[in-house]
Amino acid sequence: MSFDVEKVRADFPILHQEINGKPLVYLDNGATTQKPEAVIEAISHYYRYDNSNVHRGAHTLSDRSTAAFESARETVRQFLNAQFSEEVIWTKGTTEGINLVAFSWGLSNLKPGDQVLVSEMEHHANIVPWQMVCEKTGAQLQAIPVTEDGDVDLEKYRAMLSDAVKFVSIGHVSNALGTVNPVREIISAAHEIGALTLVDGAQAVAHWAVDVQELDCDFYAFSGHKLYGPTGIGVLYGKRALLNDMTPFMGGGEMIETVSFAKTTYNKLPYKFEPGTPNIAGAIGLATAMNYLNTFDRDDVVAHENDVLGYALKRASEYEGLRLVGRAKHRAGVLSFLIDGTHPHDVGTLLDQQGVAVRTGNHCAMPIMEHYGVPGTVRASFAMYNSRADVDALFAALDKVKMFLL
Ligand code: PLP
Repeated sequence: MSFDVEKVRADFPILHQEINGKPLVYLDNGATTQKPEAVIEAISHYYRYDNSNVHRGAHTLSDRSTAAFESARETVRQFLNAQFSEEVIWTKGTTEGINLVAFSWGLSNLKPGDQVLVSEMEHHANIVPWQMVCEKTGAQLQAIPVTEDGDVDLEKYRAMLSDAVKFVSIGHVSNALGTVNPVREIISAAHEIGALTLVDGAQAVAHWAVDVQELDCDFYAFSGHKLYGPTGIGVLYGKRALLNDMTPFMGGGEMIETVSFAKTTYNKLPYKFEPGTPNIAGAIGLATAMNYLNTFDRDDVVAHENDVLGYALKRASEYEGLRLVGRAKHRAGVLSFLIDGTHPHDVGTLLDQQGVAVRTGNHCAMPIMEHYGVPGTVRASFAMYNSRADVDALFAALDKVKMFLL
C-alpha cells in the first residue's frame, strides 16, 4: 500500500492547529469533512478571476464560468460512472436531492394504498421528506427493521416487498452506526417487484468509488461537504428516462423553455431541475475535491480507512465501560458509543477540551436511537487523513474524561 497519511494531512491546512492548547484531532467527518488546499484554492481562484453567472452572459467571464461549471458536471458523471452528464443534477446537498425525488416523483406517482420503504436506521433526511409526501398522497411509509447488530434485516425486508411497495429509499452507510448496507441486493429485490430505488450516499462517496450503473439504483444523492468539497453543493443522480418523466420540483429562471401566462414549458435535463443561479463556485470546488481524491488509488484509501477503523474498533472492544452502538460486520467511517455512567454531551465537551472533535447526540437519526433505547451516542467518524495516532489520542482523552466524570 502506497498511502502516506502524513502527506495527505499536509494537504489539509485546517488540521494543523491547536484547540484548547492541544493539537486538533478531528473526528467529526461524518458531519463534514475538511477541505484540501486544492479545493480552497479553486474556489478562491474562481471568485478572483472567473466569477460570473452561467448560461446567460454574452461575455468572456460568463463563458468561462459556464465552461467550468459544466466541466464540473462531467467530472461528477465520471466520478459516479453515470451514463449521461444530464443525469447529474446539482442540488445543495443530500437533503435537497431526496426532497426533490420525494416531491417530484412521489407527489405525481404515489396514491392511497401505496407504500414507501426506508430502513429504521435512516438519517432524518431520508425519512421526513417521504413522510411529508405520504401524508399528502395517502401512501404509507414503512420502516424496514434493523437487527440488534445494526444491519438491515434482509429477510424481513424481502417479506415486506409486495405490489403495494412503489419506492425503496435506503442509506448506503448509516451515519449513526457506520453500517454499510447491501444496497445492491436491496435494489435488485426492489426492482423485482417493480419498485424504484434511491440510495442516500451521504456517508459513502468519500470512502470508496461508487458506480451508479453497477448499483443499478434509480437515484443516488450525496453532499459535497462530506466528500472534501464545499458546503451548499450536492448531487442528485437519476436515470435519464425517469428524470425526463418527472415534473420540476421548483420553478423559476433557467428551468424553463418558454414562459407565458397561458402556459410554461420546461427546459431539458438537467436544467429542468436547476432553477435560479446555481452554486457555481461550489460545483467547481466539488469537482476539484473529486479530482483530488482521484489522485489516489481509491483502493489504497479504502485499505487505510479500514485499518484505522479496525484499530478503533479493537481499542473500543477492549476499553472498560465502553458500549458500542451498532456492531455490523461491514462498516465504514463511524464508531458510535457510550461510556457507562456518563452522558454523551459531557463526554463530547470534555473531549473538546483536549482537542478531540467528535459529535454527540442523536445524529439526526432518532428512530434508530429509540431502537437501541439510548438518547444519543458519542460518534467518532474518520476520513482519509485520520490515522491510528488519532485513535490513540481519542482513547487517551477518554481516559481523562473517565477520571473526571466517574
Ligand atoms: N443522509 C445521511 C446518511 C447523512 O449522514 C446526512 C448528513 O449528516 C444527510 C443525509 C444530510 O446531508 P446534508 O445535511 O448535507 O444534506
